[in-house]
Amino acid sequence: MSELAPSDTGSVRTSIRPGVVYLVGAGPGDAGLLTLRGLECLRAADFVLYDGLANPDLLQYTNALAERTARVGGPQGRHLEQTEINDRLIAAARKGKTVVRLKGGDPFIFGRGSEEAVALAEAGIPFEVVPGITAATGAAVYSGISLTHRDHASAVALITGHEDPTKPESALPYDQLAGFPGTLVFYMGLHRIDAITQSLIQSGRSPTESAAVVCQATTPRQQVVTGTLQTISSIAQAARLKPPSLLIVGDCVRLRDQTRWVERRPLHGLTIGVTRPAEQAEETIRRIRQLGGEAVLMPTIAVGPLHDWTAVDAILPRLAEYDWAVFTSVNGVDQLLRRLWQSGRDSRAWGACRLAAIGTVTAERLASWHLRADLIPTEFRAEALGAALAPHVAGRRILWARATRGRDILPATLRAAGADVTELPVYDNYDTTAFDPRVEERLTQGDVNWIGLSSPSAARSLAQLLSPAARTHLGGQLRLAAISPVTEAAAIEAGLPIAVVAREYTWDGLLDAIAACDR
Ligand code: SAH
Repeated sequence: MSELAPSDTGSVRTSIRPGVVYLVGAGPGDAGLLTLRGLECLRAADFVLYDGLANPDLLQYTNALAERTARVGGPQGRHLEQTEINDRLIAAARKGKTVVRLKGGDPFIFGRGSEEAVALAEAGIPFEVVPGITAATGAAVYSGISLTHRDHASAVALITGHEDPTKPESALPYDQLAGFPGTLVFYMGLHRIDAITQSLIQSGRSPTESAAVVCQATTPRQQVVTGTLQTISSIAQAARLKPPSLLIVGDCVRLRDQTRWVERRPLHGLTIGVTRPAEQAEETIRRIRQLGGEAVLMPTIAVGPLHDWTAVDAILPRLAEYDWAVFTSVNGVDQLLRRLWQSGRDSRAWGACRLAAIGTVTAERLASWHLRADLIPTEFRAEALGAALAPHVAGRRILWARATRGRDILPATLRAAGADVTELPVYDNYDTTAFDPRVEERLTQGDVNWIGLSSPSAARSLAQLLSPAARTHLGGQLRLAAISPVTEAAAIEAGLPIAVVAREYTWDGLLDAIAACDR
């Protein structure tokens, strides 16, 4: 075989020709609602132009230069802005760039995506359009409302309730909409609800028909209010909703009482700060989202590769001389095993050495390198790991893959049990010096409900990082959760109150504790 695929280039990049524009639907808010095709395009992009409704979190999937277009108000500004967008897309593509125009929802539903496509076609630029989940279906499904239903609605109309300010009178044929035999979904600004509902009633739609307003649909801040065509406007006003918003009119709204699900998720409505190093936070963030919460990445500790690998490299050829290797973090596993692999060796280097992991998550990471942990303590903490190992280690050689900084209880316990312990730092860890300004702003505004602390050093570092303004929310809007009693003790010593401690000493355990607290 002469044609081996290059292993380090994304196959996507090679399959997409340069000098092309992808009009990609970003979905209504939840980053998980982007299509796989959309993801491929983002990964391949050199330049991303995204609109105000597309979730900026999606930019984590691209290395492209990214810019946001916020439409300016007023007919003049708006038109200019759109022309400018078209020009930018065309200019970038002409330079041979792979361009993604990322648009909220579906590009061809009320998003002017078709106007952009026409401009590209006229300029002779190759383009592709990737559909997205439009706000109507996103909002309906995430509210437990089925827009069609065998008994209630066999048709659905998507209507733009945004009035074009250049048009003197309403462009909507309300008498026809009033007679429409099915569900009506209005894409509209909140200030339009009253005019729309009153016009429908005046045109003969029943004032007692069910209606819902869904705001910031599919995001962690989604809000839903329900009522009737007659009452929904004042209900929505009282709820002080925030844009963007949709109005759904139809009997199917009533189903929500049984089929709502978003609000039933354990972390619904909660914003949770994750203090883990960015490289290790991905799984936790995904889990928080899965449970219906919003995750805010706010590392208090950073981890990085060692500057000096001499000590590690000296031990790699001698791993089989150890009776036990002990891993107390995912990062320790990855760093040591990656170095082993890069040195040209593989799992056979371990010989008969047995492996201990501090908890299931660390054991799972070993498993991802096809190594099985021989020992995991029932309680995921250094004391328990030491106690579980102690009976096996008298006269034995133990290798502990540790961080440059950390607790010393484990080697002390093992040495007391008669072991010969080698402490091998395999990664560096240090405190963060400041939070990202966006995180700081949210903390200051009391816009974070919980901060999860997963190690004593994270707790101590948080005590340094929390600004006086953020501290005013402590114990009220903002609470702290500790992964274990050891972390709790470190936090208290650093002057931070802990509202809840996990029963199982993992991030899952921590999230369970938070969910139980707020139920
Ligand atoms: N192309 C987009 C719609 C663009 S028009 C789509 O397919 O969804 C913008 C309007 O869409 C907003 O004014 C609002 O009415 C609606 N909208 C977009 N995202 C929304 C969301 N997350 N929740 C509620 N309404 C939303």
